[in-house]
Amino acid sequence: MTDNFNDDDAFASAGLRLTVDLGALVENWRDLARRSGKARTSAVVKADAYGLGIEDVGETLYGAGARDFFVATADEGATLRLYAPEARIFVLSGIWPGMERRFFENDLVPVIASEEQLTFWMSVLSDYGDYPCALQVDTGFNRLGLPMDDAMALADDVSRPASFAPVLVMSHLACGDDPSNAMNRQQLEAFRKVSAAFEGIEASLANSAGIFLGADYHFDLTRPGIATYGGEAVPGVANPMRSVATAEARIIQTRSVKSGETVGYGRALQLTRDSRLAIVSAGYADGYMRSQSSAGVPLRQTGIPGGHGFIAGHKVPVAGRITMDLTIFDVTDLPENLVRAGDYVELFGSNISVDEAARAAGTIGYEMLSSMGLRHERRYISEEAEE
Ligand SMILES: *Cc1c(COP(=O)(O)O)cnc(C)c1O
Repeated sequence: MTDNFNDDDAFASAGLRLTVDLGALVENWRDLARRSGKARTSAVVKADAYGLGIEDVGETLYGAGARDFFVATADEGATLRLYAPEARIFVLSGIWPGMERRFFENDLVPVIASEEQLTFWMSVLSDYGDYPCALQVDTGFNRLGLPMDDAMALADDVSRPASFAPVLVMSHLACGDDPSNAMNRQQLEAFRKVSAAFEGIEASLANSAGIFLGADYHFDLTRPGIATYGGEAVPGVANPMRSVATAEARIIQTRSVKSGETVGYGRALQLTRDSRLAIVSAGYADGYMRSQSSAGVPLRQTGIPGGHGFIAGHKVPVAGRITMDLTIFDVTDLPENLVRAGDYVELFGSNISVDEAARAAGTIGYEMLSSMGLRHERRYISEEAEE
């Protein structure tokens, strides 16, 4: 009996689906590696590889030659280890009491970023012996990192134990996405001092945007995240990266609505013409943010237009408020036979960039990608498979 059910293709029938082009991912990473010049290029795969899946993304970039990875948590590191056996995996949130075993068993390198962590790390070393670590130094971001003075003192501290063996000294740019900002030069000068003090230890400053700031910023290792995933590293200039992720939601039903009627919660949208609406199965619980509703949300009072989908060669606007699991698109301008229940609307991808979608929601591609990573059916393709 169950043999008769044709239900094994979850992707083909999914309400919300995400396609990840691993060929484009590799091409982007190689492009960034070229732009990194003499520096080695790592891969930042925190937050489940920006929502695209740390297993497949990690394995693919490892296959492409990446040997240094950055994750946010030890759990992410333990997962990645299965797919990147020989890689160095740096854990950006550092190490805390009780995590030693997870670090050692999975060969994870903690990024030490505060005096408290440094003190704890020294005690770990005296109990367990030699183990590599990375040092993060704050050069002005004021997020994570040892203060400059403490880092310089540590570099000169002849009494530090011989088992203390940092393999990387790093810092993070606050304004890398704004090439004209004077902060970039200030952080560069500060980081030059620190990296010189830790002579012989590899240094890393540049995220995606930092790579585009030029060779001065590359040091020994670059740390691209968003650009690898096709997102915009530097707003306001043409994005040279290939699109990697495509999110599509299925039309559950279409309906005809008379001019003068209203749409959705709060009657936020009143139609001024006879209209056709497509109701799709993605909403804010899927990461398709409510702030990109067409009306009835605070962001619409600022002049930023609401979100759009893409179907059958046309952009179609969101109609009314986005709800938890559903979004309504106005498809009145499309011929009726082009939009039917069961068809898919692109939420972002090669027709509507993830950054364009994010702008309509008042946010950035990073948040759109990592939010949409929460609930969807995912498929991986490579260029070979597509042709
Ligand atoms: C997230 C992160 C990166 C990657 O940044 P992108 O802007 O996505 O390239 C690099 N370094 C650190 C410390 C990060 O937290």
